[in-house]
Amino acid sequence: QAKRSGRNRAVAYRAEFDAEVSQRLHLLAELREALRLQQFTLVFQPLFDRAGEAVALEALVRWQHPQRGLLSPAEFIGVCEESGLIVELGRWVLQEAARHHRLLDAAGLGRLRMAVNVSAAQFGHDLASDVKAALQQCPMPAGALELEITESLIMHNFERTIELMQQLAAMGVSFAVDDFGTGHSSLAYLKRLPIDRLKIDRSFVQDLATDPDDATICASVINLAHSLHLSTVAEGVETKAQLDWLRERGCDEVQGFLLGRPQAFASLLPVLLGHGGPRPAA
Ligand code: C2E
Ligand code: MG
Ligand code: MG
Ligand code: MG
Repeated sequence: QAKRSGRNRAVAYRAEFDAEVSQRLHLLAELREALRLQQFTLVFQPLFDRAGEAVALEALVRWQHPQRGLLSPAEFIGVCEESGLIVELGRWVLQEAARHHRLLDAAGLGRLRMAVNVSAAQFGHDLASDVKAALQQCPMPAGALELEITESLIMHNFERTIELMQQLAAMGVSFAVDDFGTGHSSLAYLKRLPIDRLKIDRSFVQDLATDPDDATICASVINLAHSLHLSTVAEGVETKAQLDWLRERGCDEVQGFLLGRPQAFASLLPVLLGHGGPRPAA
C-alpha cells in the first residue's frame, strides 16, 4: 500500500513537472513571437529631486499579450533571463529608451535621465556595443543614460562586470544599484565600481514610518552613500509620511506611486510639461 501510494505520488509529481516544463516552453515560444510581432511596450515612471522637480524616467517593460492583456515583467522576465532571450529584449528596450529620450529632448526635457534596467545575461554579452548602437541610432547623449543593475549581477562575475562598467562609464553612461540592501554585495566591491547612485529597495521604504529597524536601514544607506559620494533614490514611496521622512534625512531622489505611477509616454509627457492637471504631491 505504502509502496503503491509512493509510486502514485511519483507519477503525480512527474506529471506536474512535465506540465511545468511544457508551460515554460510554450511561454518561451510566445515570447519569441512577441519580439517579432513587437508586442512589447515601455511605460515610464518619473523620479523627483528634493525640490520636487522630475529628474529622470525609469523605463519599465510590459508585454501586450494578445489574449492575457498587459503583463508585468514578473510574468515573463524570468523565462527571458533563463533562455537568454533577455539579450534581444534588452537591446530593444535600450533602443526604445533612446527613442523616447529623443522625444523628451524635442519637448525641451532633454536634461532628464533615462534609466534602463539590465540583467546579468546582457553583461555576459557585449552590452557596451548594444548601448553604443542604441545611442547612435536615435541619437541620445550617453550622459543621459543610466543603467540599473543589481547587487547579484555585480557579484556574479566581478572582473567582467568591472571591465564593462568602466568601458560604459568612459562613454559617459551612469550606473545605479537597484533594490539596494536586498543582495549580498560587499562594500569593498562597490567601492571599486563606477557607481553613481544607490536605489534603496522598496521593502525598506514601505514601513519606514512605523518600523524603527527599516528606518535605521534607510538612514544608514543614505549616510553610507553620501560618505562614498554616491547619490540615493528611495523606491516605492507611497505615503506623505515616507516622503517627509526621506526628505528630512537627505535622500536625494524619490520614486513611487505617491509621485507618479509607471505610465505610457504620451500620458506622462503633458504632466512633465506642467499642463497635465495638478502637479504630483511633491
Ligand atoms: P525595479 O527596477 O525595482 O522597478 C521598480 C518596480 O516597482 C516596478 O515594477 C514599479 O512599477 C514598481 N513600483 C514603483 N513605485 C512603486 C510603489 O510606490 N509601490 C509599489 N508597490 N510598487 C512600485 P515593474 O514595472 O513590475 O517591474 C518589476 C521589475 O522588473 C523591475 O524592478 C525590474 O527589476 C524588472 N524590469 C522591468 N523592466 C525591465 C527591463 O526592461 N529589463 C530588465 N532586465 N528588467 C526589467
Ligand atoms: Mg529598476
Ligand atoms: Mg528597484
Ligand atoms: Mg524592486
